[in-house]
This record gives sequence, structure tokens and C-alpha cells, in this order.
Amino acid sequence: MSARLRFAPSPTGPLHIGGVRTALYNYLLAKKLGGEFILRIEDTDQNRYVEGAEDYIQEALAWVGINFDESPKLGGEHAPYKQSERKAIYAEYAQQLIDSGKAYYAFDTTDELDALRERLIAEKVDNPSYNSVTRMQMKNSLTLSADEVEKRRANGESCVIRLKVPIKEEVRFKDMIRDWVVVHSSTIDDKVLLKADGMPTYHLANIVDDHLMGITHVIRGEEWLPSAPLHILLYRAFGWEHPEFAHLPLLLKPEGSGKLSKRDGLLGDFPIFPLQWTDPESGDVARGFREDGYLPQAMVNFLAFLGWNPGTEQELFTMEELIESFSIERVNGSGARFDIQKAQWYNQQYLRALPDEELVELAKANAETEITDEFAASLVKLLKDRVTFPKEFITEAPYLFEAPTKYEEAIAAKQWNDQAKTAMPLIIEALQSVEDFNSQQIHDAIFENLTAAEIKPGKVMQALRLAVSGQGRGADLMLTLEILGKTEVISRIEKALELL
Ligand code: GLU
Repeated sequence: MSARLRFAPSPTGPLHIGGVRTALYNYLLAKKLGGEFILRIEDTDQNRYVEGAEDYIQEALAWVGINFDESPKLGGEHAPYKQSERKAIYAEYAQQLIDSGKAYYAFDTTDELDALRERLIAEKVDNPSYNSVTRMQMKNSLTLSADEVEKRRANGESCVIRLKVPIKEEVRFKDMIRDWVVVHSSTIDDKVLLKADGMPTYHLANIVDDHLMGITHVIRGEEWLPSAPLHILLYRAFGWEHPEFAHLPLLLKPEGSGKLSKRDGLLGDFPIFPLQWTDPESGDVARGFREDGYLPQAMVNFLAFLGWNPGTEQELFTMEELIESFSIERVNGSGARFDIQKAQWYNQQYLRALPDEELVELAKANAETEITDEFAASLVKLLKDRVTFPKEFITEAPYLFEAPTKYEEAIAAKQWNDQAKTAMPLIIEALQSVEDFNSQQIHDAIFENLTAAEIKPGKVMQALRLAVSGQGRGADLMLTLEILGKTEVISRIEKALELL
């Protein structure tokens, strides 16, 4: 049987970065095993449906290069499965459980359910729920006569279908990450499978689809671990074999303690969503990794390492290499720290590795005013090894765009001394003599002139930098002079001599 894995998000808001990691692990294992990766939108809960979330999910996955196989629309556009389009299927399977006596109809009203809860709480029951014990005190097809049930159903009375959880049964399964998980069925309540409006709950739709779609491995977030025993019971009720399960550890805050939450992303220090998201109701904007200037290759590499490691020293992996190296055995069982600095490091590595033409395009795209290819190429040449994000091609060296109007005071006090003042006219003279104004020629001319006047060039270079950039530090100085051009450099030095 070939491997089939799926990512099954609910479109209840923007996809959290942890969701992208879940999708990635499913994708990697599917491809590693030579199988398929399916995308299924679990959109049966109309109350939680958020406009735009579904498009967001697809766009985010496409951005990082997680492409899904298969499409329910034969011959049509490539689209994910959507549970809202499969409603009839779930009702049919719920009926199957009714027919086999594994599920039952329940007619209890909201008031009656509330009353049950209150009574159980008053009686100090450990786990107040609608379960194998309490169901016998409620209005359902186990307590009402067959005629009564028939009559109520014929009258169109509101009714749900609940799973008849066995009274005493051990539920055990082997999680690929956590090993054996054992739960007693008495702790599980009779979950609603089909709601009064005919819509399935998450549990029913999820299990029916995983079965019908031939899913072999389910990799999902730890928050679903408590639902897994119920899912095992559902597979048993249907008489189906269950897929293998792997519940991924939580993502922790960068500090290393506490769960990474949506709020962390809204506080604004760093993104936790793959793409920028504008909340359709509040209009609030949450930043995205893409808009912040992260490259998708860096994201994939960073996410792969959030809880997994290859067991070697290698840190940079293409998607192909990840597919080859990935295994669930090497997924860590404890929480993974969301180390945003590591994400930045990856971005720097991947940015540096891009061909210069692409960097030129990125620099141009980030400039506020239009810049020429030639100027953009200069920025790239000068700053390539210093930037983490493409926008820094523009922000890193503001003095390339405008002559300084201020000079860093501490540097000026220390470096703009008598020797520097003597050196500047010599530097100007040297610059004037340079015909081919490139960094090597500039360097040679300046050094020659200063050395002849018995000034150690090293002693006045920071002053020169200060004169042309206003700063004490920055990118390669000779290259900076080359980019600025002879006339501009000389005029800046003259201005510094006047002002400082
Ligand atoms: N729809 C669920 C979610 O939003 C799917 C959980 C699962 O993978 O089974 O995460």
C-alpha cells in the first residue's frame, strides 16, 4: 500500500506557523515514502468559518513550496478536498453506525444538557459528561422506545447522533513519537458525530475522510492527542484499521518556556504567520514572514529543524535533501523553541546564496524611489554579506542615497584630529589623480599619497569614512567610494572639512 498523508486545516483564521510545520512534516514523509500528499479543508463548522482563511492556507503552502497532489475536481482546476462539499457522505456513515448499534439518536435539548451538567457538578462527579453511565438518564434511542424514536424523527424533532462509547474497554495505540498511549474508555464521552443540522462534527468527518482517502499516517499537532483515543474507538466502531499517528510537540516561545501563541505574533516583535493577515472583522494586521523579507527556502529549512534534526552537522537543506533525510524517528518528543534568531540566520544564508541578478531585483523592489540596475548592482556588491533581509540593501547604507548632514559625534571627537585634517587634502589630491575610479585604483592612490607624506593610512581611514558617510562603521570603504563616484566623494570631504 503506498503512503498517503494529508494536511487537514480548518479555515478558522490565518494559518499559524506551527500549522505550516505540520504540513511540511506530512509532505516530507509522504514524498520520502514515495507517496501522495493531500490537502483537505475541514470546513464543516460554519460558525468558525473565517472569510479568506482558505485562500490564505493555499497561498501560504504554495509560497513555501508544499504542493499537494490530487484534486477532487476531475479535469477541473487543481483544488483541495473540501469537507463542506462532502456532507452527504458523512451522514451516510453516521447512519451506518446507527444501523450497527454503535451510535444512537439523542433528542436532549440545550436546557436538558445544561441540567445534566449542573447536576453532575453538584454531585462532584469527576468528569461530568454525557457518557456510558449518564446516557441512560437522557432522551435518546437507548432509553426511548423504538416507536417513540420513530415518531420524534417523523415530526422532524431536533436530534443529533452520538457515538456509543463502550463502557469498559482499553484504548491503546502506538504514537510514532510518543510510543504507547493508553486510555480507558470510561474517560471518553459519547461525542456528537452528526449535528442537528445534518453537518458532521470534526471527529466524524476527519475519520471518515482519512479512511476513504486511504490515509496511512496522520501527523498533527499535540493539541489533537486527547482526541486520538476517541478516533481509535471510531475506527473500531466502523471496523476499519486506523492509520499510524504522530503527534508533534508544541512550539515554545523564543525564551524557551510557554507555548507560542497567536498573541506573540500580534505583539509585533517577530511574525508567527507565514503571510501577512488582515483580520476581516477588526481590520487588525498581523505581520507575515513573507512580507518581512524571509525567503521561502529559509522558512522551509527553519521549520524542518523546529523539532527535527538529521543527526549530522549539516544545517542547510534544500527541500529535496529534506525529503531524503526526513524521518519521524528523529522528531524530538519535547517542545521546540521558536528561535527567531535561527530563522534570521537561515535567511541570511539563503539570501547570500541567491544569484546576483535576483538580489538586484530584490534591492530594486525594496527601494522607495526608482533606482537603476547599475546602482542596485552596486548595493548588492557592497552589502551582500551584511544583510539578513532584502530591505536592508536600502536601509543599511543610507549615505549611498544622500550625503550626510550630521557626523557621529563620538567618532568625530576621536578621529577628526589634526592628522586627519592634514590627510584630507592629500586624499582629495589622490582621488583627483585616479582615472579609472574603482576601489583598487582608489586604494592605491590614497595609500601612495599618504605614505609619501608619512601618514599611516590606517590612522585616518575612519575619519575618511566619517567624512563621506557620517558614520564610524559600515561596509567596505573603498567600494563605497567607488559607488559614490569621484565628484561626490570629493565634495563630501570638502564639506566635512568645512563643518567639522
Ligand atoms: N481540522 C483539524 C485542524 O484544524 C485537523 C486535525 C487533524 O489533523 O486531524 O487542525
